[in-house]
Amino acid sequence: MRTLDDLLKHGVKGRRILVRSDLNVPLKDGRVAGDGRIRASLPVFVKLLERGARVIVAAHLGRPKGEPDPRYSLGPVADRLAQLLGSPVEFALDTVGTSARLMSAEMKDGELLLLENVRFNPGETSKDDQERLEFARHLAFLTGGEDEGGAFVEDAFGAVHRKHASVYDIATLLPHYCGDLVRDELAVLRQLTGSPDRPYVVVLGGSKVSDKLAVIDSLLPKVDRLLVGGGMCFTFLAAQGHEVGDSLLEPDQTEACRGFLDVRDEDGASKVVLPTDIVVAADVTEHAATSVVPANAIPPGQKGLDIGPDTVRTFGDALAGAKTVFWNGPMGVFEVAPFVAGTRGLAEAVAAVDGLSVVGGGDSAAAVRALKIDAGSFGHISTGGGASLEFLEGKTLPGVAVLEEH
Ligand code: ADP
Ligand code: MG
Repeated sequence: MRTLDDLLKHGVKGRRILVRSDLNVPLKDGRVAGDGRIRASLPVFVKLLERGARVIVAAHLGRPKGEPDPRYSLGPVADRLAQLLGSPVEFALDTVGTSARLMSAEMKDGELLLLENVRFNPGETSKDDQERLEFARHLAFLTGGEDEGGAFVEDAFGAVHRKHASVYDIATLLPHYCGDLVRDELAVLRQLTGSPDRPYVVVLGGSKVSDKLAVIDSLLPKVDRLLVGGGMCFTFLAAQGHEVGDSLLEPDQTEACRGFLDVRDEDGASKVVLPTDIVVAADVTEHAATSVVPANAIPPGQKGLDIGPDTVRTFGDALAGAKTVFWNGPMGVFEVAPFVAGTRGLAEAVAAVDGLSVVGGGDSAAAVRALKIDAGSFGHISTGGGASLEFLEGKTLPGVAVLEEH
């Protein structure tokens, strides 16, 4: 796989380089509400711009339905990007239409042009190979093509698990290079699947077990301990025969959970560690009356909404000696104040790990930010939740595979 540095060696001055970035950030009142992904994308832009490249950036935002939708415009992202770069950003009003074609043709060395949301074009996400390829051809055309020095840099880690035109097909049309962000994410994730330093502890939470079955299946043989919290722990508790009241429960997954609970370490102990106490309430509200109950005695009519203090200690102990940690999924409904303590305690324990600690997942990363825990105390916070889980499941990531194959 050729990297951005390989491209730079050939010289990029005057060449139009198409970069696929992950600029899928939260917006509020027409402004960027969290610029983490924009910041993470800057290094590649800067490297190219400093060397006189003409940088065309393709990105998506949200899930528009294949046609322009002002709610999902990248306009606010262009503004924030210009602020962070400290230089003007040209913004095309379409993806591959008149505006994009004129603006890309008129670019000067060291300029950056951001295209409008690629998902405004139905070809981006189409299941029809021809329709996708057609859109990719139009994107490639903006660079002038290979003969005129056009090239493609894949840097949208959060999108590499998608077989989309600007992620996959484009790399079949232009000389292609792996961007720094994708390179760094893959390097960290390979440490988790290769031969991680031990003890290796994985913490999973979040809402749905069914979303995470595949990752549990592939990680359980490799880990020393799997700590389970969040909404998914109740299906495990039910699998042990406990009542879980009105907590989240996926009855069709209890059988799978029972199988996971049977996976044992050399000493015969289950590798899966479940909560011992749970914060319950009748409803998810800011002023809910909460109580802490044993995990095997959740009263009827109550919802389990966070792990309890005893569990935070147990999980903390399991993490204390760990040399490698992967954490995905909040321990409770952290968005609502009475249920944030478990996620806070867990996040602090992960941050204190003296080894490689990796946080993956959109909501988990958001929790770390909302809790104002120093991002630097984690080894790595992945920008791509879905992509990192699919990698850990052992799935092929189309946007990475295409760089290796072609
Ligand atoms: P990530 O995006 O980090 O992969 P998920 O999307 O799997 O995480 O899960 C995040 C969601 O899980 C959060 O919105 C949180 O409110 C919810 N959640 C966590 N614990 C519970 C619980 N006990 N009951 C219901 N929802 C929960
Ligand atoms: Mg999520």
